Amino acid sequence: MNTNAEISEPPLTFDELAQIDIARLKGVGEAKQRALHEYGINDVLELLMTYPRRWVDRTNQQRVADAALGEEVLLVVEVRGVEERQMRNRRKMVNVRVGDGTGTLRITFFNQPWRARQLTVGLVVAIHGKVEDYRGSLQMTNPVVDLIGDRTGRIVPIYPQSEKVRITTWDLAALVDQVLRRCESRGVADPLSIADQERLGLIGRFEALKSIHGPDSMADANAARRRLAFDELLRVQVELVRRKRELERTSQGVEHVVGGELVERFVGALPFPLTTAQRRAIDEIGSDMASPQPMHRLLQGDVGAGKTMVAVAALLNAVSGGHQGALMAPTEVLAEQHGSGVKALLDGLVVVDGDNLFGERPLRVELLTNRVTGQDRREVLAGLADGSVDIVIGTHALIQEGVEFGSLGAVVVDEQHRFGVEQRAALRAKSDGVVPDLLVMTATPIPRTAAMTVYGDLEVSALDELPPGRTPIATHWAAGPLSEANVWASVRDEVATGRQAYVVCPLIGESENLEVASAEETFEHLAAGELSNVRLGLLHGRMSSAEKEATMEAFRARQIDVLVATTVIEVGVDVPNATVMVVLDADRFGIAQLHQLRGRVGRGEHASTCWLMTTSEDANPRIEALVGSTDGFELAEIDLELRGEGTLMSSAQKGRSDLRLASLRRDRELIEQAREVAFRIIDDDPELARSDVLRSEIALLLSEREGDYLTKS
Ligand code: ADP
Ligand code: MG
Repeated sequence: MNTNAEISEPPLTFDELAQIDIARLKGVGEAKQRALHEYGINDVLELLMTYPRRWVDRTNQQRVADAALGEEVLLVVEVRGVEERQMRNRRKMVNVRVGDGTGTLRITFFNQPWRARQLTVGLVVAIHGKVEDYRGSLQMTNPVVDLIGDRTGRIVPIYPQSEKVRITTWDLAALVDQVLRRCESRGVADPLSIADQERLGLIGRFEALKSIHGPDSMADANAARRRLAFDELLRVQVELVRRKRELERTSQGVEHVVGGELVERFVGALPFPLTTAQRRAIDEIGSDMASPQPMHRLLQGDVGAGKTMVAVAALLNAVSGGHQGALMAPTEVLAEQHGSGVKALLDGLVVVDGDNLFGERPLRVELLTNRVTGQDRREVLAGLADGSVDIVIGTHALIQEGVEFGSLGAVVVDEQHRFGVEQRAALRAKSDGVVPDLLVMTATPIPRTAAMTVYGDLEVSALDELPPGRTPIATHWAAGPLSEANVWASVRDEVATGRQAYVVCPLIGESENLEVASAEETFEHLAAGELSNVRLGLLHGRMSSAEKEATMEAFRARQIDVLVATTVIEVGVDVPNATVMVVLDADRFGIAQLHQLRGRVGRGEHASTCWLMTTSEDANPRIEALVGSTDGFELAEIDLELRGEGTLMSSAQKGRSDLRLASLRRDRELIEQAREVAFRIIDDDPELARSDVLRSEIALLLSEREGDYLTKS
């Protein structure tokens, strides 16, 4: 046997590891193979990528005799006896007697009947919880329990367990151990150069794999996690950056002439100066639009931050060079609102027109919704086709309905941060391969890191400053029936002083019908009781758009004092005289949605109030967050925090995901580093022709669906 040949064998790649069936490992018979398969492990790579859920740090371990009452402690104990009891309320209680040679204690589990099956006599478990006194003896209630068996290491990895599949944490640990020992001579291929590792302070990949499964210290475990999380992020970023660059190479955009007179005149005619944030966003958009590559930019700004001004400036950039602009809203009501708003803003502006005796003509803005029909519609369509309509405002359907444009130069999409690939493809098709510049606006603040990960091929501008003179919205939590009466009293008071209010009805699951029924019920209930003396209106998604618009119009005209509505009013509706927002069953909404709803008030000179009502008086961190902050960016961070790890990814996809360790919340710095490395790699080697390891890992681990998901923005 030639040792030299063995040494010179290249490190094992993920591809090779993925080709080794799990059945080839020692100790894996047919039954175990089936169980592993059910657990989701078929090959050696999948085994290695099954990371511990956490580690029990036995260096912190205490003896039962030393455990102090009221303190959180980690004990490693043996199960001595298990007893199951039925309580009066028909729930089960499991009592487990455990001990470690220095003393014993009792663990009580409520509502975890399966513990009786899990914790058999003789088993060694690590328990983590607070020690209490129960009638003179020690007790722990519902502690965290990890089965650690006879493993003596100082840091014991704990693998995800499933109740159904009988693969224990030590089954996995032993198999992983076996694989790592077999990999030892060749090592595992590393896509990251030594120089990059050193620069970023990352350990090598093989070392990371060994350390994540069997760290010598918690610091080692963390270094391993950091390295492997980086790899996950790098794969995603490389794919995103590759697609971004490819799109840039293959698409021809419009080189707009920006900073023209038109935009200046528009800004000059505004009754207020732009905020610094607005000016910055307009500049960023301007330089995108001036470049030959199509713009793909997200404009984030809290409700009321003044995104419309920025949008209009972008559209005017297009118009001043002889192109057209389109503004699309998510609903007809909002399109109509934008239509009248933008028409008013642009009133009196003229554009250059060589066919005309005076060399100019009025700027032409048209609305195109389903309600524009007959001759009117034909005229708008003709004007779009021959280029005489400069700006068109409609719903998102605008670009999909066979509308022809003379020369569409810029598209602004309002209130939709998920502008899908299909829509972008439709945009491309609109104009003979020349891709119009795209600006997507959203009031749902996406933390920058999330934007970078999930919307990686998107540039972001943020309006992080509200125009001056806004009165902040006071938000209160009204929990329970007593406070409910206060809320209605305060609504009546506001109405008495000439203000208006919204009452938003509970969100009921998926069913719009139920939601409508609940709105109707609330309407009748209020009309017959608490709000019998005010003029009530009702707005919900089952009304025709004509009915909806009529109701909104009546509300705007102050013929309705209080509008009872479903979440149809969530986006964009702008009635400055409305100063009270009541959200019923607010605990059924997410933070972002509540923040959106709240943004319907506080739009005028009067102080506004938002009441978040819940029937339960239980602590609710989401409601507390809303009460404590009106800053959308801060709320987005809290939201991310509360929803836990990897949220954006995991909520949108099922099944296997490559982002197992990386967390959008914890790994901000890592995301930026991965992105930077990704740019360097792709700009040097656009199709990864010289980066075999990375290329094959991306092909192996990033499913099509995942890749598409990532660019759906
Ligand atoms: P959003 O970002 O929610 O779409 P809008 O564009 O609808 O915000 O603007 C909200 C309100 O603020 C509008 O009435 C608009 O006229 C006003 N506004 C926008 N920019 C400014 C500014 N720089 N100074 C004062 N008021 C502004
Ligand atoms: Mg808006």
